[in-house]
Amino acid sequence: MNAEARKKALRFLFAPIVDKLGYKFTPNEEDADFLLEQEAALEEKHGMPYCPCQARSKDRAENMKIICPCIPFHREHYDAMRRCWCGLFVHKDVTDPDSLVQFPESKLKRP
Ligand code: SF4
Repeated sequence: MNAEARKKALRFLFAPIVDKLGYKFTPNEEDADFLLEQEAALEEKHGMPYCPCQARSKDRAENMKIICPCIPFHREHYDAMRRCWCGLFVHKDVTDPDSLVQFPESKLKRP
């Protein structure tokens, strides 16, 4: 499957999953296209659509937590940002993804 077809397939596969989690693809089509392209390339190379924005380690269990869409493993953090780490997915009500602030999990305010 060529990269363009795989990007389309990933889009098709991810959409219903993130929908159930309260997310959608970013309305920034250029960003979405770029990130999906990176994921398709990672999948081609490593067999999984790993996150293009998070580093893999030698720990397989840890790496499983950064296979897209990784939202369930980072739910509290991403919900607080209203976007996933890469910004490929945003909360359903987001119309201006550039207004969202990315911050590390260590800065998450917990009650
Ligand atoms: S941060 Fe976003 S793009 Fe990266 S793997 Fe997680 S859900 Fe996918």
